[in-house]
Amino acid sequence: MDASDALAPIRDRFVLDDDTAYLDGNSLGALPRAVPGRIADVIAREWGELRIRSWTESGWWTAPERIGDKIAPLIGAAPGRVVVGDSTSVNIFKAVVGGVRMAGKGCTEILVDATTFPTDGYIARSAARMTGLAVRPVEPARIADEVTERTALALVNHVDYRTGELNDLPAITHALHSAGALAVWDLCHSAGALPVGLDAHHVDLAVGCTYKYLNGGPGSPAYLYVRESLQERFESPLPGWNSHADPFAMDPGYTPADGIRRGRVGTPDILSLLALEAALEAWDGVSIEAVRAKSLALTDFFLECVNAYVPPGLVRSLTPHDHQRRGSQVSLACSPQLSAAFAQGAAPVAGQVMDELIRRGVVGDFRHPDVLRFGFTPLYTSFADAERAARVLGEVLGALPDVAPGAAGTGG
Ligand SMILES: *Cc1c(COP(=O)(O)O)cnc(C)c1O
Repeated sequence: MDASDALAPIRDRFVLDDDTAYLDGNSLGALPRAVPGRIADVIAREWGELRIRSWTESGWWTAPERIGDKIAPLIGAAPGRVVVGDSTSVNIFKAVVGGVRMAGKGCTEILVDATTFPTDGYIARSAARMTGLAVRPVEPARIADEVTERTALALVNHVDYRTGELNDLPAITHALHSAGALAVWDLCHSAGALPVGLDAHHVDLAVGCTYKYLNGGPGSPAYLYVRESLQERFESPLPGWNSHADPFAMDPGYTPADGIRRGRVGTPDILSLLALEAALEAWDGVSIEAVRAKSLALTDFFLECVNAYVPPGLVRSLTPHDHQRRGSQVSLACSPQLSAAFAQGAAPVAGQVMDELIRRGVVGDFRHPDVLRFGFTPLYTSFADAERAARVLGEVLGALPDVAPGAAGTGG
């Protein structure tokens, strides 16, 4: 499978070691080879020699929009609709408050994905308090039934960080629009792993981080997408001077810039931004459709290997089998039977299993209470990595005295 994989050569664009199967790119993407040299040059020449001149001569000032335009094709957006800067959490705040300000007068509530990554829920509740609205948690599959004319917007995760389930962005967006509500999508676990189609599906606002499948590095800046036809009405709750129509006029009165620049706040973190820009070169000549096809093949193959190698009943996939509903990770829940085999009172079983996998060169992560997560980044994950991860998992679990097939005391 690796020999016939057209994306296999892309792995050379990353710094990886052959004795590790790195399956945590959904948490922190691997280092692209282009980054260290680029950052060394930014520091030594652009900062060290050109100093203040680099804001114009090295293109620092326009980096948030320029790099937004580089991310745009990966999420199905035309140029001028994506701006990079700040964390995902901060961009969620801009999107939710900005969305409420654009919503109809009679709106009283915000719907929040009941399965969301926690930061989205925390920020949405604060944004709701500030705008006088209520927050109602709703499962993504229920949004179409629960949205009403009083709903200002729904904030939904495109892929569930815990289970890897892909939510139906076109259908949910359509249902929200039919009720007059806005659709705000968090793309943290989908951007760079599968086609998103923001423009095609008329998504209103979207945010996402760049350190997962986009490989921008630890804490690399996030992005904000605002649909073109809404940009003129978008009022940021954080109207910093970088979003002013004429920032260097130093005008005491605020006039927002035209277009996506009004999503900016203050001075951008240039080192992280330019590391991200270099990281995005790993996508040169790669189509997101090819990435999606490989992602599904990798996760199918991994599930097949888990079935073949892991004694039955010890783990259960939380990730949907249906391709239409699967992101780019596989989450395996540990059965209660495994608890008996591990030290009680210590870390959760899934944490102990993952520690052992990492000791044996298979790097995934675990999420409370019992979930083993394996992320598949098609730019650099091989089928051999997937086979190895399942084999080592089978070795670790199969070797446990209380769970080995045929061992006394193996309960149902
Ligand atoms: C990773 C992730 C975040 C991270 O937010 P930060 O502000 O970058 O820490 C937010 N939302 C979702 C859905 C995520 O998966």
